[in-house]
Amino acid sequence: MSNPYFEVMRHDICFPLYVEVDEIYNLACPASPIHYQFDPVQTTKTSVHGAINMLGLAKRVKAKILQASTSEVYGDPTVHPQPETYWGNVNPVGLRSCYDEGKRCAETLFFDYHRQHKLKIKVARIFNTYGPRMHPNDGRVVSNFIVQALKGEEITVYGDGSQTRSFCYVDDMIEGFIKFMDSPDDFIGPVNLGNPAEFSILQLAEKVIEITGSKSKIVFKPLPPDDPTQRQPDITLAKNVIKWEPKVSLLEGLKKTIAYFEETLK
Ligand code: UDP
Ligand code: UDP
Repeated sequence: MSNPYFEVMRHDICFPLYVEVDEIYNLACPASPIHYQFDPVQTTKTSVHGAINMLGLAKRVKAKILQASTSEVYGDPTVHPQPETYWGNVNPVGLRSCYDEGKRCAETLFFDYHRQHKLKIKVARIFNTYGPRMHPNDGRVVSNFIVQALKGEEITVYGDGSQTRSFCYVDDMIEGFIKFMDSPDDFIGPVNLGNPAEFSILQLAEKVIEITGSKSKIVFKPLPPDDPTQRQPDITLAKNVIKWEPKVSLLEGLKKTIAYFEETLK
């Protein structure tokens, strides 16, 4: 913030934006199910209208543009782990569709602007990411469990906790974005970015309890509709082309995130 060359602007990308830039990282869109389902129409607009505006901007100023896509394009996958060549298994009319289909349509727009207008695009499919500076009310599983454990509240496992996710520490993810942005122009993705270490949600709850030393008890709540059963990235492409793979283990990342929340919740 104190850097005189840093400028922050508050802007809704559903409206046109005229700025002069060299590179665009389009991460706009809530990513937590409770937040993107709060105003689902706006979620689709942000992904679709927002992508159109950012692509229009990139086209006008000839900027390189990276899209934060998502593992949700695979829906509830029937192929495991998920390679980029898998087309996915997405419900087009469910509660998660505003996010999943919005992000899928954004990928289409990116590839069509690339084919039609020769834009320099980069499409990254991000798998579950966590770390310090998440909002305590973010609503996703890692921050929920940590906040619950630190406050001595019940740990809310949805379903029986056998569903899996693969959690990537934020610093690893950012390094992946930058390496991808800096890679040759002919490498446009889509490329999976995530940590391939897969855990069940119950295992995650147990780890959080163990590291925090919390007395919280695990309680089981109903599984939300269309909740994906398993998720694990195949990161062969990222490893081979951009020489990237995550370095921070779940244990190490959880310790850093817990330390952050201990400070915040004081
Ligand atoms: N756009 C923008 N900033 C720019 C250039 C374009 O927000 O610097 C928006 C513009 O409002 C347009 C959208 O991006 O609706 C798509 O732009 P494009 O040039 O592809 O389409 P066109 O303007 O020809 O409809
Ligand atoms: N989940 C849970 N308890 C919570 C929040 C989430 O058991 O308090 C589960 C959720 O049902 C899902 C997984 O944890 O199976 C990951 O959920 P999250 O919302 O973090 O991200 P998703 O990958 O589902 O978008």
